[in-house]
Amino acid sequence: MPRKHNEIDRRGFLKTTAAGVGAAALGNKLAHAAEERPATQPAESQEVIWRNRNPEMEYRRLGRTQFMVSRIVHGWGGNESLWRRILGTGVNYFDTALGYGNLEVELKPFLARYRDRLWVTSKVSDITGYTKIDEGVQELYRKAMKAFLGKEEGHLLALHKEAVAKQKATGEKPDLRAVGQRIARLYAEMLDQSLERMGIECVDCYMMHGLEIPWMFDCLDIWETYAKAHKAGKVKHFGFSVHQHHKEVLAATVEANARGPWKIDLIMPGVNPESFDQLKPELAALKKQDVGIVAMKTSGIKNRPVDGREQRFTDLMGGREYNEWERGKLWMLHLTEDLIDACIAAMSNVEEMEKDTRLPSVKLTAAAERELRAMVKLEMAGACHLCGSCTTACPEHIAVTDMIRYHAYVHQYNEKALARELYAKAGYDPSRLCNQCGACADVCPSDVRISEILAELPLAVRA
Ligand code: SF4
Ligand code: SF4
Repeated sequence: MPRKHNEIDRRGFLKTTAAGVGAAALGNKLAHAAEERPATQPAESQEVIWRNRNPEMEYRRLGRTQFMVSRIVHGWGGNESLWRRILGTGVNYFDTALGYGNLEVELKPFLARYRDRLWVTSKVSDITGYTKIDEGVQELYRKAMKAFLGKEEGHLLALHKEAVAKQKATGEKPDLRAVGQRIARLYAEMLDQSLERMGIECVDCYMMHGLEIPWMFDCLDIWETYAKAHKAGKVKHFGFSVHQHHKEVLAATVEANARGPWKIDLIMPGVNPESFDQLKPELAALKKQDVGIVAMKTSGIKNRPVDGREQRFTDLMGGREYNEWERGKLWMLHLTEDLIDACIAAMSNVEEMEKDTRLPSVKLTAAAERELRAMVKLEMAGACHLCGSCTTACPEHIAVTDMIRYHAYVHQYNEKALARELYAKAGYDPSRLCNQCGACADVCPSDVRISEILAELPLAVRA
């Protein structure tokens, strides 16, 4: 039976109706929530933490973690020899995840030598997404929806949207305690696995990977499990990465931080010049709470070439050329009004490393800044912004948005190995499942060529 808010106990749910409500409804609450808990004061009185400092690199205080993070951090890619060179540039943050193939294990000998020079994040994989979700979690989530909505069939995101609508209308929320308890158990188990795989005793931040369900912040068992691991010295900070449904998840994060006991110190959102303006209120509210923000997928997903303008930008930059990935990162590093602390780069060879690690110290003249803004906006106009609507609409339950992201990993992010890995994990060819009904195209606000992308993907990941 669904319960009214004021009947819900502390462990299960919260006194307010914040998390899970559509982001638009939260607009006015954001600033207020950010003001309620001025986390900056105690944090700023503490000393900052330096690791692997190099005068050639730019650093930024990573919110209340107090860690001075290199403005470019390293994600997927490379080998020990490249990692040593990356360390030599002053980069001091390496990101991995239990779900990134064997990467944690490959990092083990490297971490045995250089752990003290690095900030290390890893992630509990695939338990809080609408499509990437542990089967047990999914089953419990559907049960909770059955009790709340009287139905459990269909795409999880569609059920979630229906539940949010009911919450808005009635003030009730689904009872997700059993879901939270399972996630909490998985978090503890996977944290132990990750520590063992990396051969380290403590990870700086163990994140929820690809968080999509904002009601997770109502599940205090997850927080309590993290707090226990923190006390045991296994993890220093809580955080998450988010690939889609950003607005709703980030708004729920602001609320959870304001309300406590949650203390979400670090987030890795997929944010790019196209989505930045839309997410700015939530990012600004998080910044006010002194949360560290490391941007992923900073190049966005391009839609059209900007032939002709590259040369103008090159001229303005004194003859130095910047490709589309670099332009995206330049934008995020220099034109986001200090909301973004660092950008992640998947550096897979020395050439990429040399280019990426120089981006934080690039100086943009006013004219170059204007040109960069214009070019990047033009490139991204009408591109996929990972809203997730196509996935919800698909009658064949194809994870359309994820597939579009894998396609971008191949064609735009030079992360083919990651694309291959994730595509193999999905375990199906979307072009075979697709019945060409066109429902995804009907709901797409950006006229993305979805069918073509799905048809290209199997070959693209194998090439
Ligand atoms: S066209 Fe294909 S991918 Fe799009 S909604 Fe229909 S079945 Fe799903
Ligand atoms: S509906 Fe369009 S913009 Fe939204 S995720 Fe799908 S392809 Fe991208």
